[in-house]
Amino acid sequence: MVAEQPADSNSNQENMDVLSSTRTVIKTALEKLGYPEEVYSLLKEPLRMMTVRIPVRMDDGNVKVFTGYRAQHNDAVGPTKGGIRFHPKVTENEIKALAIWMSLKAGIVDLPYGGAKGGIVCDPREMSFRELEGLSRGYVRAVSQIVGPTKDIPAPDVFTNSQIMAWMMDEYSRIDEFNSPGFITGKPIVLGGSHGRETATAKGVTIVLKEAANKKGLNVKDARVIVQGFGNAGSYLSKFLHDSGAKVVGISDAYGALYDPKGLDIDYLLDRRDSFGTVTKLFNNTITNKELLEQECDILVPAAVENQITKENANNIKASIVVEAANGPTTMEATKILTDRGILLVPDVLASAGGVTVSYFEWVQNNQGYYWSEQEIDQKLNEIMIKSFNTIYNTAKTRRVDMRLSAYMVGVRKMAEASRFRGWV
Ligand code: GLU
Repeated sequence: MVAEQPADSNSNQENMDVLSSTRTVIKTALEKLGYPEEVYSLLKEPLRMMTVRIPVRMDDGNVKVFTGYRAQHNDAVGPTKGGIRFHPKVTENEIKALAIWMSLKAGIVDLPYGGAKGGIVCDPREMSFRELEGLSRGYVRAVSQIVGPTKDIPAPDVFTNSQIMAWMMDEYSRIDEFNSPGFITGKPIVLGGSHGRETATAKGVTIVLKEAANKKGLNVKDARVIVQGFGNAGSYLSKFLHDSGAKVVGISDAYGALYDPKGLDIDYLLDRRDSFGTVTKLFNNTITNKELLEQECDILVPAAVENQITKENANNIKASIVVEAANGPTTMEATKILTDRGILLVPDVLASAGGVTVSYFEWVQNNQGYYWSEQEIDQKLNEIMIKSFNTIYNTAKTRRVDMRLSAYMVGVRKMAEASRFRGWV
């Protein structure tokens, strides 16, 4: 039960920037694809945004009221899908941008979903198990009318894990008076979770990272990799890369970073990390997250939070490949700088789509009541990620656009088409 983990904090202003830059890329993608302005008007905002207040009786006997959100971007293709994050810095604009990104991911890996995202402003690192359970159940009660296995299917995200999904599924099943495993994905295996879901984001990142390395004539076995973030994606990714013979020279958590050009002892670090992905506190010789990004390496994987590679540090990145395992780690200006410098950028909406892909497998298995083997999941995930990478890589080449715009063009098309067929625009 590993929770995803953020690195540095992000402000409201940054979240507004994240939303407005996402809109700018969507607008350009739709223009390139020849869609009229009205399609952009529909897709620039989530169709639905719910704000809820969740009272929880805390361990000290007092009631604390938490704020939560659920954004549903577009359900023309099918029910909406996306994780729920628990984080003190969650804002409405961040959740909106994240919901739009989920739509793009679903489009890229061709799932029958639109995008959604949820969030609760809280710090789970400072809450007890009992308080977290109360908050998780309270959130489900608050949003229960707009979610459901055929409406909107939540999943884990930053600082949420399979235990939280289990409580949420149980609460929804009570409200629904029916066992509803397909209400939420990322559940423990015994409650209808899927093999391979826990490691899916990292596996997806590993697959596209290998494809990107091939294109650059780089052998992953000889590559030096820096992974920023040691949460669900970052920790498993470090392990997979280490096991494939790559040299993981840098890792980080929310409190600091470790860098060693000779390669880090990943198994030791994995063993010592806590469930929030914290490990650097055990060391004295740490550097900052900011410093880590500028260290020598061949491949850089930001696997933490938004706005890490900006116009301030993009020129100092040493890697020849940047694979975005986190959502929104690179700003628009930085995307241009990296692209102009010939760095191959594998954008978030492609690189991190492995999680939602296996969530889709989980939901299909729940609907069928028939469960697949881990090999079957791996093989299907592999096919989908390789195909999606190549579609986006080739579109970037043929349409002469950067990898992010290419990913948006591929990701937005199905949703735009479906909205038109439904007669919405
Ligand atoms: N939170 C993950 C993401 O950002 C997974 C979402 C899902 O599985 O629905 O892609």
